[in-house]
Amino acid sequence: MKLFSIFGNPVSHSISPKMHNLALAGLHINGCYIRTHLEDGLQLINKFKSLQLDGANVTVPHKEFAYKLCDELDEFAKKVGAVNTLIKNGNKIQGYNTDAPGFYKAIESFGKIKNVLILGAGGTSKAIATILKEKNIDVTILNRSKNRLEYFKKNSIKAYNWGNFEVKTYELIVNTTSAGLSDDSLPLDENLLTILMQKSKFAFDVIYNKKTPFLKLAIENNLTCKDGADMLLYQGVLAFNLFFKNKLNNKDITQHMKGAFLAT
Ligand code: NDP
Repeated sequence: MKLFSIFGNPVSHSISPKMHNLALAGLHINGCYIRTHLEDGLQLINKFKSLQLDGANVTVPHKEFAYKLCDELDEFAKKVGAVNTLIKNGNKIQGYNTDAPGFYKAIESFGKIKNVLILGAGGTSKAIATILKEKNIDVTILNRSKNRLEYFKKNSIKAYNWGNFEVKTYELIVNTTSAGLSDDSLPLDENLLTILMQKSKFAFDVIYNKKTPFLKLAIENNLTCKDGADMLLYQGVLAFNLFFKNKLNNKDITQHMKGAFLAT
């Protein structure tokens, strides 16, 4: 029997076990996906090994520990510095990042996008900005503070803080900040965000299962909107397929995993 887990802190809210167990059952694979609360990120690989896992997902706040502790990294995870998927390959643990391709798949329904404004400069922003740049989409970062802009500048991605930003037209605005997650705040000054939205067509919030103030404002401004549910779904689909050496069909996995969202 194959055994998988998600590691995080907190982890009780995660619907990954539901998603992956539905896919295991639906595809008639003998396996189980559990959740593991992990306080100390440095213990990630020890815990992975002691549980004798075949694969795992990693969520907040351990993605950077996962990146540092893996034996091998895929090229994209290496670039971004964050790992959300661990695979056992013999004695080695390999690390991947499926958040970014999950996001990219989630925005497919918007059609061809030429330029994107990303609000926030944390781990999720780095992953999303990097994949968009790889796909030759023009990316601009706007963050509250200057602190985290270095990564973007080093990678030739335009990056501003609230103090030095100038308004331009962006087809898609993405909220990657945690504003609105457990409060009612917007990720940016309301007037400025309204001006940007009036020039824009699409809005995406990586937060899922919640109509955030960002999404409410986007709806008021007639943008086509999406929350982070599809991104979560597709990162899970891609991780699941990696657990099985990419031998499965993503459409089949998606069909089963989707059930986790219908039930919540
Ligand atoms: P980080 O902690 O790495 O980054 C948070 C960013 O948000 C920083 O740039 C910070 O700015 C900014 N920020 C925080 N609060 C505010 C605020 N009130 N106003 C403006 N900016 C703010 O977070 P992550 O990138 O790891 O995660 C971000 C979000 O993405 C979380 O809500 C997480 O749940 C979600 N997520 C969703 C996924 C999905 O599959 N749908 C996958 C991964 C993450 P500063 O630098 O100034 O502090």
